[in-house]
Amino acid sequence: RLIREAISRGAHAHPIVSPTSWKDGPPRRYDVMVVGAGFAGAVMAERLAADGGRKVLLVDRRPHVGGNAYDELDDAGVLIHRYGPHIFHTNSQEIFDYLSRFTQWRPYEHRVLAAVDDLLVPMPINRTTLNMLYGLDLGTEEEAAAFLAAQAEPVSVVRTSEDVVISAVGRELYQKFFQGYTRKQWGLDPSELDKAVTSRVPTRTNKDDRYFTDRFQAMPLEGYTRMFERMLDHPNIDILLGVDYCEARDAYPHDHLVFTGPIDEYFGYRHGKLPYRSLRFQHVSLDVDRFQPVAVVNYPSPDVPHTRITEYKHLTGQQVPGTSITYEFPAADGDPYYPIPRPENQQLFKRYEALAMVQTDVTFVGRLATYRYYNMDQVVGQALATYRRMTRAPAIRTVP
Ligand code: FAD
Repeated sequence: RLIREAISRGAHAHPIVSPTSWKDGPPRRYDVMVVGAGFAGAVMAERLAADGGRKVLLVDRRPHVGGNAYDELDDAGVLIHRYGPHIFHTNSQEIFDYLSRFTQWRPYEHRVLAAVDDLLVPMPINRTTLNMLYGLDLGTEEEAAAFLAAQAEPVSVVRTSEDVVISAVGRELYQKFFQGYTRKQWGLDPSELDKAVTSRVPTRTNKDDRYFTDRFQAMPLEGYTRMFERMLDHPNIDILLGVDYCEARDAYPHDHLVFTGPIDEYFGYRHGKLPYRSLRFQHVSLDVDRFQPVAVVNYPSPDVPHTRITEYKHLTGQQVPGTSITYEFPAADGDPYYPIPRPENQQLFKRYEALAMVQTDVTFVGRLATYRYYNMDQVVGQALATYRRMTRAPAIRTVP
């Protein structure tokens, strides 16, 4: 029997598998099978069902919806993120409005500290970081900019992640904040990584210590899982959890497939595996009210194996005794988390993309199917755009 119910704990204690419509067996045919119940798959399923009136079967091999954004109450009653901290931020009014149909929000601005030289200093580097680290009293943006300019080393062509940082803040800050962290995170030296990786982290000359500067920054009030449950609570959507696509493919006939899993897996790895960096999470509950001053503390030092520690009460604002934290350890093997941004990997992806382009009855969407690191809002935007294209040309293939 393929159907397995997933009942998450605590606040999410209702089954969301919806085989009630299957009293007489599953429908003979679905309009669309959607593989993957993360942001990409859930948005596609919701749009196809609620806007397009299509009968949708949503399949995920994990025993829950939400993909990597899944959250759950742990034994201490704290809402934790099983696959690492997920902070919502976007500049898009459209994306924020769309998700707001399924959740209320808790205003939250993310702040990160880095453990450097026995201090906890703001990350991204800002004027406070410089003043704390160097015992300075830089009072203006101009003074901070002049200090950084004096540290920076000229790099004629900025190609790698090392070039980006050294040309902006110099070698010492590069070593303190970036080199060890990047080596742990990626298993590669920044000099071996595309410039895109460290370009994402700004350096500031003001005292803004927010990690993100987006217009909308908030956490779903009752968590991500609850938001997904509301999104998928539609009579046109049936959900199979704990079921792999290869088990469901032939058992549930469908006219069209939306695939949000790994594109190389879909094509049987015929050109080889697309490389990913993985993570291992160690979730710990503690008998103290607070463990650290902000939600995330980064550990760039090569002397400890973890890259960061997250304390969830900062994200949720929960008032419960005790606290729950997660240590994050980068790993070569395990679930695919971060596509490794190297030119040869993009070339390999292009070969899979070429295969995808000729599949007229399959639509590929999401971070695993397009082999790109996307934030949650970007995946929502990609899925909304993909749905719009599908409705213009119903059987169209889409590799954005
Ligand atoms: P996923 O969430 O991975 O969903 C894909 C789903 O497909 C999975 O549930 C998987 O089980 C299922 N699946 C795959 N193959 C099959 C198959 N063959 N059969 C059945 N099911 C299958 N973004 C932010 O905006 N803010 C953050 O703070 C943030 N933090 C992050 C932290 C970490 C550690 C990571 C790894 C990512 C973070 N992200 C963050 C990015 C965010 O996780 C992604 O944008 C989002 O999860 C992408 O959604 P998706 O649906 O494309 O993929």
